[in-house]
Amino acid sequence: MFEKILIANRGEIALRIQRACREMGIKTVVVYSEADRGAKYVRLADEAVCIGPAQARDSYLSMPAIISAAEVTDAEAIHPGYGFMAENADFADRVEKSGFVFIGPRPENIRTMGDKVMAKKAMIEAGVPVVPGSDGALPDDPAEIVRIAREVGYPVIIKASGGGGGRGMRVVYTEAALLTAVATTKTEAAAAFNNPEVYMEKYLENPRHIEIQVLADGDRNAIWLGERDCSMQRRHQKVIEEAPAPGIPRRLIERIGERCADACRRMRYRGAGTFEFLYENGEFFFIEMNTRIQVEHTITEMITGIDLVQEQIKVAAGEKFVLRQRDIEFVGHSIECRINAEDPFNFVPSPGLITKWHTPGGPGVRIDSHVFTGYTVPPYYDSMIAKLITYGKTREQAIARMDIALSEMVVEGIKTNVELHRELMQDANFKAGGTSIHYLEQKLSQRS
Ligand code: ADP
Repeated sequence: MFEKILIANRGEIALRIQRACREMGIKTVVVYSEADRGAKYVRLADEAVCIGPAQARDSYLSMPAIISAAEVTDAEAIHPGYGFMAENADFADRVEKSGFVFIGPRPENIRTMGDKVMAKKAMIEAGVPVVPGSDGALPDDPAEIVRIAREVGYPVIIKASGGGGGRGMRVVYTEAALLTAVATTKTEAAAAFNNPEVYMEKYLENPRHIEIQVLADGDRNAIWLGERDCSMQRRHQKVIEEAPAPGIPRRLIERIGERCADACRRMRYRGAGTFEFLYENGEFFFIEMNTRIQVEHTITEMITGIDLVQEQIKVAAGEKFVLRQRDIEFVGHSIECRINAEDPFNFVPSPGLITKWHTPGGPGVRIDSHVFTGYTVPPYYDSMIAKLITYGKTREQAIARMDIALSEMVVEGIKTNVELHRELMQDANFKAGGTSIHYLEQKLSQRS
């Protein structure tokens, strides 16, 4: 096992990784920007290295700064967390070429999955069902594009191969709007992702977002750890996640889970990963794979009892993979609410000094957060400041516990979306389960 790991991230996930390491007896090196000097995990680290100014481009996204921090501290491995460099194949490559272990998949797997056209192709080969659409990237010939759209059937969605974070997508309802939409998306994709390539998919009108967690050892041993329902979204950003997904027959989940594990074996995938699907009318359609730990990994941990971050570290250290599919049991139900520093009505970010922070507790309540009374939320990064997670024997119990936990939560000095979550825990359709990815936006548009 490693003696020392460098954590190349910030916020709650830096603390989460640090906790996993401390439990395993591994020393941690934390890197931080000038804006994160006062963070909790910086104080708790065995060593801490300032890697630059607040702007992520000059700190958390600076490969030389992070690699030299690993060199001066003699760290053996680098955990990238999520966001920042977690899915940057060049970074993974440079980490390994500099003699450190990258806690994540092989660079070539990250590269393939980071290109959505290549990822879809790999999934088709592995027998994973994908959203019907163009066979690879769209050609230049306008007549061909029109023909493909007719074949796929309107509405269609034009998506950038290099896209991510919910950007680089455009829905098209009519042939008249098609060619302009393709041209605009291409121009935007070239500017934003340095890759003008776009492809076309059938636009599914009422799907749910269901994803499968996998874990693999890079040597053809792979398991799937159940599903998560992340349909409660705003602007393609997840707001609430839960596991298991309500109302989906177990045999369908088992079938798609096996396919995902198989795909991992085929590509000799290493580490934790997530296959994201749209689910409509009893069918799964692959949209993308994330080659990292995800924000919502916690709810899978709650229902399986497996520490996913520790498993990532064990796989990276080359420990023998002892988990077997038949040993994985799913018990109970778990929900996660993402607590963001933002206005609960207009969603404008609300950074600043937290004058009072009191978190809930009790049976089945977990909170992953780096925040405390007197902490200042910097304006430079993501607005998520905490993940409130509950667990219950049943979905009803998990919801009831979340409702109570939210009511106990006290945050003063900044605005948060706690109120929105409280509203959702009382929402009849959420309580019934199985709402689509458009539900939250529809609800919000009726609120004002
Ligand atoms: P990103 O990498 O930017 O997150 P995804 O491919 O995962 O992009 O898509 C993000 C979201 O966009 C999905 O969760 C879904 O809400 C919507 N979306 C993507 N493709 C489709 C589609 N074919 N039909 C309907 N909605 C889609």
